[in-house]
Amino acid sequence: MPVIPSAYAKLRARGKELSLLGATGGLLGWDQETLLPPKGHSFRAEQSAQIAGLSHRLATSPEIARWLDDCSSAFPADSAESACVARWRHDYLRATRIPPALVEENELASGLARSAWVEARKKSDFPAFAPHLEKLLSLSRKMADLWGYSDQPYDALLEGYEPGWLTRDVTALFAKLRPRLVSIAEKSFALPRPPSRKNIRGHYPRNHQEIFLQQLLPKIGFDTAAGRLDSSTHPFCSGLGPGDTRMTTRYDETDFMVSLYGVLHEAGHGLYDQGLPESQLGTPLGQAASLGIHESQSRLWENRIGRSRSFWKTWWPDLIQAFPDLSRHNHDDCWRASNAVERSFIRVEADEVTYDLHILLRFELETQLLKGDLAVRDLPAAWNELFEKLLGLKVPDDARGCLQDIHWSLGGFGYFPTYTLGNLTSSQLWQAANRDLPSLSSSIDNRDYQPLLRWLREKVHAHGRRYPASELVQRATGKALDPEAHLSVLEWKVKELAS
Ligand code: ZN
Repeated sequence: MPVIPSAYAKLRARGKELSLLGATGGLLGWDQETLLPPKGHSFRAEQSAQIAGLSHRLATSPEIARWLDDCSSAFPADSAESACVARWRHDYLRATRIPPALVEENELASGLARSAWVEARKKSDFPAFAPHLEKLLSLSRKMADLWGYSDQPYDALLEGYEPGWLTRDVTALFAKLRPRLVSIAEKSFALPRPPSRKNIRGHYPRNHQEIFLQQLLPKIGFDTAAGRLDSSTHPFCSGLGPGDTRMTTRYDETDFMVSLYGVLHEAGHGLYDQGLPESQLGTPLGQAASLGIHESQSRLWENRIGRSRSFWKTWWPDLIQAFPDLSRHNHDDCWRASNAVERSFIRVEADEVTYDLHILLRFELETQLLKGDLAVRDLPAAWNELFEKLLGLKVPDDARGCLQDIHWSLGGFGYFPTYTLGNLTSSQLWQAANRDLPSLSSSIDNRDYQPLLRWLREKVHAHGRRYPASELVQRATGKALDPEAHLSVLEWKVKELAS
């Protein structure tokens, strides 16, 4: 069968071309957020559109269908090659079902919506954004129809972010989570000495924060010769390719936890990117399993490591040295402050306990919007009503309500649930790692994070996108994703805070 390996080699070569172009686009995007002079934005938009157009043409060209057919039964069903062919087919079908004219219309509409959203959010003016949201919803419905779904249009959108998950699965998951999260949050609010980040405000010069973070990164296993840390308004991480993982954070000189947890979060993403097999560049084996799995890595380092008592205790001498202002406190105060559970309006600032309630709200509303059960004009009222039910706060304006996130302005309906899946997965992986490595907590107490990283490399990173996310979780932890692990971690933490 000489034809088949050559078709596979062609798919692989095309995959590599797409990875190289994707990384080039990613680098332009990174530069746009970090260094680009203000007058360069419209030229940059043209450059990025050129790369995106080129990628789309390469990803949808008809010869790919032939190569896929030639490979369809060429490999044993459980082989890595067969998994790659399945992922390539999935991506090809998704990309080719949408006609180029609709892709362009969607690009244009989201470009306009994004600038309208920036202005609308500044002025808390929802009516100015509403027509854009209406337009993006109708385009998303059109695309969902073309992609196809068995139950509801939201399924087709979710598939783009977290393949294998259906709306009804997410609904069932949130039905289970909601009462438990609300009860854990209530217990946290009722703590006799509720911790607060405000208590540790002080003066933490930015250059001291940078020095400390550069010391921390290699210690948790991030290869600083194969990546960088810069600053941007919204922290992010771009795994561009082998040897080049870019992260950013933001700095607040009164609260060093902003940059600390920003970096631990993004470094979790970065460690995953650095752990993907380099030799598989261009095949799905060199790609992340899903957005939810990516987020599980960031949450694990941010919350299970960075917000642990052990972290504060073992890094305390270095922290004191970096930030003399901290010596007014002790490590336990800082540990408590870093775990403060507080009612707040803004998702990206929310603590670990209330975070998924923010996601639940968005999921409920976006599924209703997409089905047409909720009219766009009624979104602010629906948001505020559900927010008060879940978090007990009256939303003062739409900037702190339904206008706060960028996702809907980009047409990203179906993205939000991946955050919760990431949170749940992170705790389940953490539990499994502790079960598999009985001495894990003592190595972490000695600031040795290598055993944990090696475990993640072996169980998660090394497989790239070979397995669907649900199967990867099953293989790594021995069971299907179950919210129980995360809920018990949160319940345990609230008890610790009460002690
Ligand atoms: Zn993240």
